[in-house]
Amino acid sequence: MDGAATSLVTLEDVWKSHAPGSPAAVSGLSFALERNEILALLGPSGSGKTTTLRLIAGFDRPDSGRILLNGAPVSGEGMWIEPEQRRIGMVFQDYALFPHLTLLDNVMFGLRNGSRQSRADSARHVLSVVGMVELAHRYPHELSGGQQQRVALARALAPGPLVLLLDEPFSNLDVDMRAEMRDELLRILRASETSAVMVTHDQEEALAVADRVGVLNQGCLEQLSEPEVLYRRPRTRFVAEFVGQSDFIPGVVGDAIETEVGSFPNDAGLPAGARVDLVVRPDEVDFEPSDDGDGVVSHRRFRGAENLYHLTLRSGARLRSSQPSTRALVAGTRVEVTVRPAELIVFPCDAETRDDPEDGLQAQR
Ligand code: ADP
Ligand code: MG
Repeated sequence: MDGAATSLVTLEDVWKSHAPGSPAAVSGLSFALERNEILALLGPSGSGKTTTLRLIAGFDRPDSGRILLNGAPVSGEGMWIEPEQRRIGMVFQDYALFPHLTLLDNVMFGLRNGSRQSRADSARHVLSVVGMVELAHRYPHELSGGQQQRVALARALAPGPLVLLLDEPFSNLDVDMRAEMRDELLRILRASETSAVMVTHDQEEALAVADRVGVLNQGCLEQLSEPEVLYRRPRTRFVAEFVGQSDFIPGVVGDAIETEVGSFPNDAGLPAGARVDLVVRPDEVDFEPSDDGDGVVSHRRFRGAENLYHLTLRSGARLRSSQPSTRALVAGTRVEVTVRPAELIVFPCDAETRDDPEDGLQAQR
């Protein structure tokens, strides 16, 4: 059997437009979720994240392409399996708990089989997994956002789904609750051996939680990689900009790639004379005060654990530099800038598009 047969969820060239003539919300999407994997789909608002989940769950029908669950087609090519038959648990962005039902009844709602007693026992069991069993007889409005989310998670997990889909699971939580719920969610998913697709617009969330992260841009999957690879080897400009803070320094290819912040090896063999942008991250930039330095501190953002410096080079190009929280230099200080890329990322500026996923040095228009 091929790989598609063993993946939990497979999308094959899936297209979806919500209305005739409107642009595709999802364009030629192909990816697979493997067993025991947590996959994050990351993208800005409107990039097709919710649509993707709705297609997998069966709340939307693709215009073309196929979706397989556990190797069996559920939509496409005339095939259609109803959402209730898909064994998919979904946690909606607004939790969508039933306000007139207790937490216990909310969780029991999706349990169809067995006596009321055995369904209640199962519901209590998952409520205890998410740490909410003591509040089983309360109503949703009596809960905090984090507690509601736990219940929504319990309700989705109760029927023992093949896969869990989570739509922006932390977006309605206070910032200080997010990290806690993130760890908690990971613990629950791992403990229950549940595979999940989580969508989010928050890169930190995606990088922290997922085994692999896919970046969506206007319905297209631009890259699907492990978090470190996504950050260190972005395959497109969009990914470089959206994941991690990136500054772009213009350069030109000579014997090496010549830029205002130094020369870098032309390992990809870009043609001499080509104009490129070098991607630089704040953790790759350092500086020392120097009267004849090539940069100036334009301002400093104190962020608690670090100082984020904004530097301006002679050409007007801007760079950010991450520095210890104790290092304070005033705006206007002239500095000598050092750039040490952990991995060289260069995008040609000309119309020619090149993508080479195997190489640390990628290129795209
Ligand atoms: P995301 O979840 O990433 O914010 P969505 O999947 O909700 O993105 O939306 C993708 C695109 O599809 C957007 O342009 C959005 O306006 C459009 N869209 C989503 N749902 C509908 C709908 N029910 N009717 C018409 N257009 C929709
Ligand atoms: Mg959405």
